[in-house]
Amino acid sequence: MGTARLSLQRLAARRVARPTAQGHGPGPARPIARGGSGDPPRQACRGARVLMALVLAAVAPALTARAAEGPAPAPAAQELAVEDFDFAGPLGSEGARVEKVGRNHFRVTLGHAPNQPTWSNKLQFRLLRHARGIALRVDAVFACEKPQYVFDEYFYSWSADGREWHPVQWGEEGRQRGRRGTLQFPPFPADAVTVGHQVPLSYEDLVGLVEAWAKHPAVRVHVVGRSTGGRNLYRVTVADPAGPPEESRWVHYFANQHPGEHNAQWRMVGMLEWLLSDEGADARRRSVCHFLPMMSPDAPSKGWYRTNSAGVDMNRSYRPEGADPAAQTHEPYVFQKDLEGLMASRAPVTAVWAMHTWGGIVEPIARPGPEMGTALGPWTLLRDTLERHDTADLIKPLKVREKESYGGTSWTDGPHRQFGVTAVLCEGAGAFFTKQQNLDSGVVLIQALAEYYKGTRPAR
Ligand SMILES: [Zn+2]
Repeated sequence: MGTARLSLQRLAARRVARPTAQGHGPGPARPIARGGSGDPPRQACRGARVLMALVLAAVAPALTARAAEGPAPAPAAQELAVEDFDFAGPLGSEGARVEKVGRNHFRVTLGHAPNQPTWSNKLQFRLLRHARGIALRVDAVFACEKPQYVFDEYFYSWSADGREWHPVQWGEEGRQRGRRGTLQFPPFPADAVTVGHQVPLSYEDLVGLVEAWAKHPAVRVHVVGRSTGGRNLYRVTVADPAGPPEESRWVHYFANQHPGEHNAQWRMVGMLEWLLSDEGADARRRSVCHFLPMMSPDAPSKGWYRTNSAGVDMNRSYRPEGADPAAQTHEPYVFQKDLEGLMASRAPVTAVWAMHTWGGIVEPIARPGPEMGTALGPWTLLRDTLERHDTADLIKPLKVREKESYGGTSWTDGPHRQFGVTAVLCEGAGAFFTKQQNLDSGVVLIQALAEYYKGTRPAR
């Protein structure tokens, strides 16, 4: 049965791995994620080197004797030490502690999100040196009786260059979900390696992307504020200045609330970069698209999954009664205030998309606004348009949800209640193990939106 199961798994993997037929053109913006890891300075521990030299001197006669008998032994692989781990890089994990268990085998005890003792931080770290050729094993531990939002719900990835990410899955042996899990890595090809959640995106990587996008004449970069950690709160707007006046365009707003849901962030990168490609020329003339790729930019370096520095769940942070600095924490207030400004502008938002990740493929769930079934076809036309573009089965059929949850504090229900606009909770993609699949799913979404939101917006 092993073979049959394996081939089924392969088939399933292929089903989601197939690239979209459309692809996205070699537009001006390929992902140029810059080394979140960077090249750390080569600071080989001198003490260890001296010690190694002494050991070699001691065993050299024995080695020579053996060499005379048979083939020379392969050079011993390096061995990692606790000091080679860094949990404070662009992809980090606040409060993590590492101990050595055996040769290249370590235990990492994870910390938790601010004010949320049951929400573990993600297992993110850098190996600063000595990683080449080593097959690292990490046992992650979270000391909590009833953990919530567990660290091992999704896959992780490693990279030697900060651009190409390789997925790694949790082993089943000895696993206690949310409390104990093991990652066994293949031998690393480089001395410095970064490990992060899903297909990671650090704040530093995002800054690199934003700087590249900013060179396109259709892109306007707004820094709507700074995080409590001093990082930029970005809203990146794509709107071709050569198109019709913005008050007559469809306006879309795509935002990522949960900072650890990196696959959702790459989905947005795919959307944005398609808009900047040759294929997206018509869409960027007829629409205004706002992207908020990281609403909690302090999180990637800390490994926070859902929160900002105040420990607030970023998707329970909306205030449908209106933005209020006394009632909200910093980042949610700043972003909601900015959205309220857009709604009061000459080009108010037509549809708000909240970009998330849960298991499976992409799963959009809509709360339709007034344009659906009036100025435009019914919401089912958007569903059918999505399905037609989705030749690689990356997206589940669009559904509609009528009921509000969490008291309107999510970034779907909140704006829907406050402004009556279309709001879409876009979940899923936890089963996409590559950056490319996430980018491709974003391309399908934006292609379908460009088609469904046809022409320009009727005068109001
Ligand atoms: Zn989420």
